[in-house]
Amino acid sequence: MNFKQKLTIIQYILNRRIEKIKPSIDHAKIKYEILSDLGLTDISIFNELVSEGIMKKKVFATVVKCNACGSFYISSFYKCPFCGSILVEGETIATHTLCGYTGTLSTFKEGNKEICPVCKREIKKSDLNLRAHVFTCKSCGKNFVEGRITHYCNDCGNKFDPSNEIYNIETIYYYEIDKSGWEKITKLYKPWINIYDFLIENGFILKDDSKIKGESGIEHDFDLVFKKNDKYSAFTYVNKLTIEDLLRFHIKTIDAKNVALFIVTNTKTDKQIEDFSRKYGINLLSFEDKNVIKSLEMQLKELKFLD
Ligand SMILES: [Zn+2]
Ligand SMILES: [Zn+2]
Ligand SMILES: [Zn+2]
Repeated sequence: MNFKQKLTIIQYILNRRIEKIKPSIDHAKIKYEILSDLGLTDISIFNELVSEGIMKKKVFATVVKCNACGSFYISSFYKCPFCGSILVEGETIATHTLCGYTGTLSTFKEGNKEICPVCKREIKKSDLNLRAHVFTCKSCGKNFVEGRITHYCNDCGNKFDPSNEIYNIETIYYYEIDKSGWEKITKLYKPWINIYDFLIENGFILKDDSKIKGESGIEHDFDLVFKKNDKYSAFTYVNKLTIEDLLRFHIKTIDAKNVALFIVTNTKTDKQIEDFSRKYGINLLSFEDKNVIKSLEMQLKELKFLD
């Protein structure tokens, strides 16, 4: 999952104020609507956001899957515990209070009339005492209270009995964004989305692979790379920015000459960091800065990306 896709997902979450990302089951696949809406399939983004403390991973359900083809498109049947037939019906046992006869409701029928098979009186609802629900096996005729369950795969036709073995079940998860997750997402990613929107509005084009090849032949990786008038601007996020980081990025600016490098950080920058970055030709953007877009605009003007 590249950074652009991550931002797209985060923007989707922010716009819709999504608090729960629930799975849905589609044959052999567990789907998340947010991913299918955005034309994505890779769920590694969720794990990334979990490790960043933005989302919490929680058990949604343990579902039955076909042990032959892996499909979740399963039907379940009740099976007679005596003969194994799946031709079973649910019935209600009732007592005729006037004579004491007890049997299944179907035995109180004679043609279209409801008649007691023992005392032959016509049945009134008030004279019937409903006692229990049972199964009746249409193959062997026996009654039983608890049917055994058996599964049938609608995709491959496999029949299998319940078991808790790994190839028979799968635990599926949903993801939750709580209050602290919202605070993090707003702090860490909202400014990124503003930066992205600002650049696109000002005629920058996003490079698909966010890599730039230096004169050495080495490909340098960034989080986002934009192109405008044959010049590149590359953005990289650094959590706690140090002088060592600046040195490391300075090497990239030497190798990739036609690139304006922006380091985006979440921490407040101090004078030493600012002096070094100026010296090394690195542009800084801090999310601690209330006017991060203004600062970006000024730096882009200096670099002649904007008029
Ligand atoms: Zn199957
Ligand atoms: Zn039976
Ligand atoms: Zn009776």
